[in-house]
Amino acid sequence: MVKLNENFAKLPGSYLFAEIARRTAEYTKANPDRRLIKLGIGDVTQPLSPSVISAMHKAVDEMGSKESFMGYGPYEGYAFLREAIVSHDYAPFGAPISADEIFISDGAKSDCGNIGDIFSEDNIVAVCDPVYPVYVDVNAMAGRAGDYDGTRWTNLVYLPCNERNGFIPELPVRKPDIIYLCFPNNPTGAAANKEQLKLWVDYALRNDAIILFDAAYREYITEPDIPHSIYEIEGATECAIEFCSFSKTAGFTGTRCGYTTIPRALKREGESLYDVWMRRQSSKYNGTPYIIQRGAEAVYSPEGEREYKQQIAYYMNNAAVIRDGLKQAGLTVYGGVNSPYIWAKTPDGMQSWDFFDKLLREANVVTTPGAGFGPEGEGFIRLTGFGDAEATKQAIERIVGTLK
Ligand SMILES: *Cc1c(COP(=O)(O)O)cnc(C)c1O
Repeated sequence: MVKLNENFAKLPGSYLFAEIARRTAEYTKANPDRRLIKLGIGDVTQPLSPSVISAMHKAVDEMGSKESFMGYGPYEGYAFLREAIVSHDYAPFGAPISADEIFISDGAKSDCGNIGDIFSEDNIVAVCDPVYPVYVDVNAMAGRAGDYDGTRWTNLVYLPCNERNGFIPELPVRKPDIIYLCFPNNPTGAAANKEQLKLWVDYALRNDAIILFDAAYREYITEPDIPHSIYEIEGATECAIEFCSFSKTAGFTGTRCGYTTIPRALKREGESLYDVWMRRQSSKYNGTPYIIQRGAEAVYSPEGEREYKQQIAYYMNNAAVIRDGLKQAGLTVYGGVNSPYIWAKTPDGMQSWDFFDKLLREANVVTTPGAGFGPEGEGFIRLTGFGDAEATKQAIERIVGTLK
């Protein structure tokens, strides 16, 4: 008889986005003439840039000729892309990473989850609260989270991120083995500076823990002294794995490409984690498509870089419009400076979902209730700069009008 992985039965339904969709659909059905504006989206909206498109077209043509056809590629990705990553994302920041420490992937989400394959089920996992739900769900599926008590998982270490600590987690009392950190952060938009990250790197080194660092929003950093990579912190090559993605950098959410860095110096129980991950990848992954890797390489060309920076400036301009508008409406807002996310405090201690409903009904704007990202998210909503500029401006005018 087939038995299913019992951990899946412990997962609560994908409540957050399903519930947002349900409430939105219900409102639209009752009010078909209202035009809703969605500021809850976590997906990019600008098209792929001309450099990326032309590199992919060229690669498609190469695939059609016998001389230049490419079959299975290296499990860790093509050297042309790994070298471009080093010279663009690591070397300029003084991060001591070489091309043979990088694995090209089909995105950061899959690797953030799949990396669990190389760690025992017995490890204690720490996550920020509020958090990108992927880290929690994948560990629940692997049996590392314990049971869900309706609010929290019994075996996870939660690291509260709130106004008191500036949304940067403090070191925990209960010692975790694996620590997920994501900066700049989704959903709070907070960015950790060098000193704050160093505290975590030192902690991991002292306690033999491993940091899984998600740097998906590194290109949104605008302030100095905010590290773009955890490897800017001394000692991180001995305690951290880093996940990056072309999704938010260059609009690859539907195109799929990212990379995972595992320094050769990262060892546990005498084993190189690079080698263990290579063993895993060579059995479970046959590589990111050549055409896509050529597209990603073009992101790093001078023209490609100019183009993606323009797209990011467009989103960050939306973020500024949201930030300034909500402030003007009297709300307390965070984020939007080194990240496309705005984390806004609800007025008068209103619950996240109540404020969500109010904005839906009175301003016809869809947001994301902070409580959906974890218990510490209660009392906040998340808005994103990923929308259309005109629509964003209009949405904020509506919200300001509603809150007057
Ligand atoms: C969007 C996002 C990613 C990117 O995921 P991909 O699978 O590369 O598209 C990773 N981490 C966080 C926190 C994100 O918000």
